[in-house]
Amino acid sequence: MQARQLPQMVTHEVLNQAQALENYNAYSRNLALQEAVGREGAGWAHDWLVARGAEVGSAEWIEHGRLANTHPPQMRLFDRYGHRRDEVEFHPSWHECLGWLKGHGCDTGPWADPKPGAHVARAAAFVQFAEIEAGSLCPTTMTYGAVPVLKHVPELARDWMPLLLSRQYDRRFIPATDKRGVLIGMGLTEKQGGSDVRANTTRAERLDDASWRIVGHKWFLSAPMCDAFLVTAQTPKGLSCFFVPRWTPDGRLNEIRIQRFKDKLGDRSNAGTEAEFWGATAWLVGEEGRGIPTVLEMGVYTRLDCALGSTGLLRAALSQALHHAGQRAAFGKLLRQQPLMMNVLADMALESEAATALSLRLARAFDAQDDEREALLRRLLTPVAKLWICKRCPTVVAEAMEVHGGNGYVEEGPMPRLFRQSPLNSIWEGSGNVMCLDALRALTKQSKSADVLAAEFAGALGQNAAFDRHVAQLQLDLRDSVGIEASARRLTQDIALAVQAALLLRFAPQPVSEAFCASRLGGDWGQVLGTLGRQTDFETILQRAWPQ
Ligand SMILES: Cc1cc2nc3c(=O)[nH]c(=O)nc-3n(C[C@H](O)[C@H](O)[C@H](O)COP(=O)(O)OP(=O)(O)OC[C@H]3O[C@@H](n4cnc5c(N)ncnc54)[C@H](O)[C@@H]3O)c2cc1C
Repeated sequence: MQARQLPQMVTHEVLNQAQALENYNAYSRNLALQEAVGREGAGWAHDWLVARGAEVGSAEWIEHGRLANTHPPQMRLFDRYGHRRDEVEFHPSWHECLGWLKGHGCDTGPWADPKPGAHVARAAAFVQFAEIEAGSLCPTTMTYGAVPVLKHVPELARDWMPLLLSRQYDRRFIPATDKRGVLIGMGLTEKQGGSDVRANTTRAERLDDASWRIVGHKWFLSAPMCDAFLVTAQTPKGLSCFFVPRWTPDGRLNEIRIQRFKDKLGDRSNAGTEAEFWGATAWLVGEEGRGIPTVLEMGVYTRLDCALGSTGLLRAALSQALHHAGQRAAFGKLLRQQPLMMNVLADMALESEAATALSLRLARAFDAQDDEREALLRRLLTPVAKLWICKRCPTVVAEAMEVHGGNGYVEEGPMPRLFRQSPLNSIWEGSGNVMCLDALRALTKQSKSADVLAAEFAGALGQNAAFDRHVAQLQLDLRDSVGIEASARRLTQDIALAVQAALLLRFAPQPVSEAFCASRLGGDWGQVLGTLGRQTDFETILQRAWPQ
């Protein structure tokens, strides 16, 4: 029998499509991150971070990130006989991700092995993991923030600290006493209010044995498979903070009833739930009636991680865009060689480098726990960095998506997931306005904050006229309290830009710092990315940012 000839139209060669960005070292080619790690005191972690970069850039780990998100968690409220389980089942890749994060101390490494630069080294690993999977960072950061809070409660610390500081992730849903490592979540937000936690209606009642009973609800309770939660509830003395384990010490499931999953825009790998407390057993953490300062102690760490997480998302989006533009041609030239596309890519690269510099500088302030100057800086820069980096993130991710053309909008690629994730860090852990008001509070309550800030600019003054002018105006604005609340976003933005510019002027190659200052401070910029001035050294900026 004669073979049937296919018409020529049926087959075609696939041309001009980029290869996936994988099997590369996400750290070795992230020069901005490497240099920041070195100058912020964690140069000793270089080899360790190179090894993490190889993992994060590998096809295997990128696939874990994809699978954890394409197979979202499943609720198992009851067992087959109708007993309550309130359990959530995850894809194995979710567990792999948490195993990586806990195994490398991204939750409690700096507490388990404190040394100069420990928070910075952890920050760099956290940023890198954010490039491939963001949902698992949620229980990781809550556990990071819970440690300093739980240290104040010797009875809880005695039993829980070894498990918190452990490098073993234990996925089993069993009492903590039988586990090799634990994770902590938190429940603050209720239906009637999240930013204003004072509006909580959940109540706590003291029992004879010094434990408490919690009755109420939480409107958002993420990562419900955590082994315990820090939960706010009202007592006769006011809002207080409680430690609520998933299992009671006598081995019963605690009375935390999951109601339903949140159907979220992104963060799909992570389970977000609504929960009710039906007389859950709890222990007081911190002073009764002082729940807000107690949970804020945790919040400082989780807010740092929002800035770090968005730094990772920004870098991931930039890397994908650069990689694509280096392989895709249009009108006879690679996109990467088209002058207008070079402007877009360089503008994104500036944003990514500035975010990296600011968030790693902030991480250093967490290393110097006993230094008064660094403490003031930490207090002010945490809300500033969280506001600014998390706000810039969706803008850059959307632009990076467009660099991919239609491919960027298709779920098979990484861009839709990055895009859905990109606004979240700005919303939780204190939304944008709340961060700005917090920055104002830091400035007004701690009179030395402005001086400490000024010291950050000192080494960069005299190098760039736009920067000098920006700092001079900022100093005036900081002294003027008229209408200050309404302009808190503007002020927070101006502080963030000044700190970023100072870091770039001091440490980044001149083409980067000059383009950043000219565009962000000097007015030589438009309303969209890709509007850097004509004199910009695009080539140098792009080569520095290139991921491979
Ligand atoms: C995916 C996801 C997971 C979450 N997981 C958790 C969790 O595990 N545990 C938990 O406790 N919470 C969790 N949250 C809740 C989150 O922290 C809150 O949504 C957030 O703090 C905002 O609170 P809200 O939703 O009540 O908004 P609101 O407090 O109503 O705020 C609405 C808007 O008003 C602004 N605003 C508030 N006060 C002022 C003011 N004085 N001046 C000007 N503007 C103001 C805010 O910035 C915000 O933009 C999660 C949220 C999401 C989206």
